[in-house]
Amino acid sequence: LGMPSVPIKLAERRVSRQIQVGSVPVGGDAPISVQSMTTTRTSDIGATLQQIAELTASGCQIVRVACPTQDDADALPVIARKSQIPVIADIHFQPKYVFAAIDAGCAAVRVNPGNIKQFDDKVKEIAKAASDAGTPIRIGVNAGSLDRRLLQKYGRATPEALVESALWECSLFEEHGFRDIKISVKHNDPVVMVNAYRQLAAQCDYPLHLGVTEAGPAFQGTIKSSVAFGALLSEGIGDTIRVSLSAPPAEEIKVGNQILESLGLRERGLEIVSCPSCGRAQVDVYKLAEEVTAGLTGMDVPLRVAVMGCVVNGPGEAREADLGVASGNGKGQIFVKGEVIKTVPESKIVETLIEEAMKIAEQMEKDGAAS
Ligand code: SF4
Repeated sequence: LGMPSVPIKLAERRVSRQIQVGSVPVGGDAPISVQSMTTTRTSDIGATLQQIAELTASGCQIVRVACPTQDDADALPVIARKSQIPVIADIHFQPKYVFAAIDAGCAAVRVNPGNIKQFDDKVKEIAKAASDAGTPIRIGVNAGSLDRRLLQKYGRATPEALVESALWECSLFEEHGFRDIKISVKHNDPVVMVNAYRQLAAQCDYPLHLGVTEAGPAFQGTIKSSVAFGALLSEGIGDTIRVSLSAPPAEEIKVGNQILESLGLRERGLEIVSCPSCGRAQVDVYKLAEEVTAGLTGMDVPLRVAVMGCVVNGPGEAREADLGVASGNGKGQIFVKGEVIKTVPESKIVETLIEEAMKIAEQMEKDGAAS
């Protein structure tokens, strides 16, 4: 008799209010969404829409576009209408672009009211326009652009300074009854960032957008974001994530989705579990894992495929995989759910795995259709 399998979960999700970013709910019990930002000039509509299409194809759910000039603001209506995913306009100092973004039908606007406070009554007008249009606002506090007053008070961008800044920015909207807000408090140091989000999470119920700012090139940025998001998400903190990399934005999406899948916060897609290799290995495990990954990439099924370097321990170590191979003596034992189903020459391993993966995928579809 098998024991019923009880999914092991991380901590309960923090209770937050839910906002609606176009078609994507953020906060509450909504699935954690992954977002990125375009690197094109927003005024170049064709290039921006092309990049948004690439991001959408790689699994991006929300996209942000910068809006520093009037030409960019003029491009927003077409971009918002033609994008397959909700578009957030990122605005820094110019209230007129905030109104333009709301009128353009952007799904949300990122703006810090503290930056536009000097324009009399503009915060009130923005709160009204955003409220009338049902457009939420992200308040994004960054260590690099922290208010001078808070820098003086705290000496540097401490977690407390970031949180005080964010809550003060929120209060500027709250004064006008506007609470359709999500917040980020980004820092390039994951330790400061994690502490800032923890404190913020305890002091408000707004949904939180996680980000490590200026995280760096792909390798370093991936590690920094993974450890910081991992710490927070495993405590139930975080409603939408953006991995910042000095790399093409589609890379950010790959990393973001992988983080969520690794934490069991998103249904796993294809997962390759390969052994680290050791003195028992009878095949180049790294090369085989790469070939199997390349061969199966694009299969949109939640399959866990194991690539193991030896037949002695391989199938046993990979018992939880749906499908796998254990190599030895120029051959590959193909196994399904830990049972060896056939042995093929090394040159046939990849094609056999693809065939078997397709059979399992078909079966999954039939089972899904039957239930
Ligand atoms: Fe070593 Fe075999 Fe385990 Fe790979 S599966 S780590 S080769 S014992």
